[in-house]
Amino acid sequence: MADFLPYGRQSVTEEDIEAVVEVLRGDWLTTGPAVTRFEADLAGHTGGTPAVAVTSGTAALHVAYAAAGVGPGDEVVAGPLTFVATASTAALHGATVTFADVEPDTGNLDPAAARAAMTRRTRVLAAVDYAGHPAELDRLRAIAHGADALLLEDAAHSIGGSWQGRPVGSLADLTTFSFFPTKNLTTAEGGAVVTPDEGLLARARRFRNHGLVRDRAEQRFPDEGGWHQEVHEFGLNYRLPDVLCALGSSQLRRIPSFKRRRAEIHARYDAGLADVPAVRTPVTRDGADPAWHLYPLRVLDGRRGKLFDHLRGVGIGVQVNYIPAYWHPVFADLGYRRGMCPNAERYYAEQLSLPLFPDLTDADVDRVIDEVRTFLGT
Ligand SMILES: *Cc1c(COP(=O)(O)O)cnc(C)c1O
Repeated sequence: MADFLPYGRQSVTEEDIEAVVEVLRGDWLTTGPAVTRFEADLAGHTGGTPAVAVTSGTAALHVAYAAAGVGPGDEVVAGPLTFVATASTAALHGATVTFADVEPDTGNLDPAAARAAMTRRTRVLAAVDYAGHPAELDRLRAIAHGADALLLEDAAHSIGGSWQGRPVGSLADLTTFSFFPTKNLTTAEGGAVVTPDEGLLARARRFRNHGLVRDRAEQRFPDEGGWHQEVHEFGLNYRLPDVLCALGSSQLRRIPSFKRRRAEIHARYDAGLADVPAVRTPVTRDGADPAWHLYPLRVLDGRRGKLFDHLRGVGIGVQVNYIPAYWHPVFADLGYRRGMCPNAERYYAEQLSLPLFPDLTDADVDRVIDEVRTFLGT
């Protein structure tokens, strides 16, 4: 049998390794010049929107909700077709999460469902760019602002993508990224929050660093002494170290080639599977320039589970993204019931992520296509 093909994998070059080693030989391991550089480099991919580097995509979401002031009594509206962290980090701040259904074709938050879910208590509308395809961000922003809420874009999948000609990271009040190894670029673990709003930016920076206030002008006891720093609101240590930021800056230079190769593989799957009646290939909406993180195939006639088992059995590391967030027992125990978002449940029932990462060869892709076709009898 050929080597096991994972569904996602990092692409690390000698140059990346060199960048990390250089930091290890220097004076800073954690918060130093590589963090500042990485944040500036990131802004080069977000239309100039400033960035705050943090330790994971989950930390980025937790920080973003903190910056938005989300707390007990507040509501956060989110789509359920996502990794649980989009919702759990809001719940950790004491907010109530309201799930609004997704659109049947893209799996992205449905603006009409989002609008219907907004109340006077909604503080954040959280939309995921599922698989790397940007959500309906202009409509969602208008809905959020119309309800006096902020739009948060969970762009864990979509760094490098754009919507209506504007880059991801320049479209929402708060955008979060993940740099986990399977994502579009990696720092091993890592993430970032980007926001054009200076107030949100300051709050995000502060929450990342224990809530510490160092500026004397803002301190309550500024005459305490030169050592003094104080906490006004609780925060955490979510600082991404220099070592990992150096890897991030090195990886960022390859975002265009990563995106291009991912798009090529995506197109190869599309071409190889378009005529198979038992599947649906992913759609791309007008105005969307996705940075494909996943290849979300839809398998009809209840055959997804069997195809998953078959492909895993022949060494193809397919994945399912995602179980509707409210199916997790932690939400079920809070009273969330199945059936709430039928489009997301149907999407989940049919979804299968085929291997997709820049170093996948055309031969690997063709092998996956052949196995899918053989299994489905076409
Ligand atoms: C990966 C992911 C996260 C969490 O990122 P981590 O870096 O793994 O903590 C959040 N949301 C979505 C949609 C993701 O895919």
